Amino acid sequence: MRRCGRCGRDVEEAVYVDYMGRWLCRDCFIDFYEKKLKNTVLKYRMFSPRDSIGVAASGGKDSMAMLMALNRIFPELKIEVIHINLGIGDYSRDSEEAVRRLCNRLGIEAIIYDLKEHEGFTLPDLMKTSYRRRICGACGIIRRYLLNRIAWESGLKILATGHTLDDTVELLFELYLNGRVDEIVRVKPVLEGGDRLVKRVKPLIELTDQENKYYADLTETPYSDLECPLISGSRMVRRKKLISRIEEEIPRFKHTFYKSHVKRFLPKLEKLVEKPELKACKICGMPAIGDTCSYCKLVSRVLEVVEG
Ligand SMILES: [Zn+2]
Ligand SMILES: [Zn+2]
Repeated sequence: MRRCGRCGRDVEEAVYVDYMGRWLCRDCFIDFYEKKLKNTVLKYRMFSPRDSIGVAASGGKDSMAMLMALNRIFPELKIEVIHINLGIGDYSRDSEEAVRRLCNRLGIEAIIYDLKEHEGFTLPDLMKTSYRRRICGACGIIRRYLLNRIAWESGLKILATGHTLDDTVELLFELYLNGRVDEIVRVKPVLEGGDRLVKRVKPLIELTDQENKYYADLTETPYSDLECPLISGSRMVRRKKLISRIEEEIPRFKHTFYKSHVKRFLPKLEKLVEKPELKACKICGMPAIGDTCSYCKLVSRVLEVVEG
């Protein structure tokens, strides 16, 4: 038996939220999580409760928890799910299956986009190119590009992605360490849209991986718990482990780092850093910083290898 740190009841089922140092019963945790998510959405004006939005669902615990919670918190929100099947064997099959199951249960439409079928290559094909050493970064380019294009072509004005506090701090850690200021200013809860650019929002940006897992488990949300086989041993995974160790020594490290970034650094940096001028990519017409967008560059290299 555990005593809930919020309602004071003695319960069988409780979860320990590590940065709070508190046990919460099932009902209190779900209520706490949903209030926190709702507050993030409203605070940063991500969308209104009756908007139409796209939700990027990978099939993992974070985006599936987000989909479940958005559906419960905003019953009048019109949601269209976008899932990209990256062609990574069992991992991708399991992920797509989880997305289909949750969408069926919630009665939400899903666009399932198969990378091999539509683009002619799979993520593992990238392992045969120079992208091999930065596979997670390359995967990020592909997902960012395709999610935006699919959302844009579907007429969606807003796209929600499942980036968590852990993802954000891991990225900020890397960017601050290397002084990549141009990229630092783009790490924020809302990125406004433009021509052929859908507004991007991150409703989970103030929730930890642990909180999302608890929420998904306590609400019996289907998700795939397979780890991407390409990610193991990657720098990203190693940095997340390092950040967990820092958090053990400096309680609330992740929350503090994130808040300092958003409240203290961002407002000043945004005045100093010029926004890059976007042109239309000469191959696909989508927004690009140079003549060709980073996705088209990637595709031309990978198709060379695939097609021999
Ligand atoms: Zn309680
Ligand atoms: Zn392009």
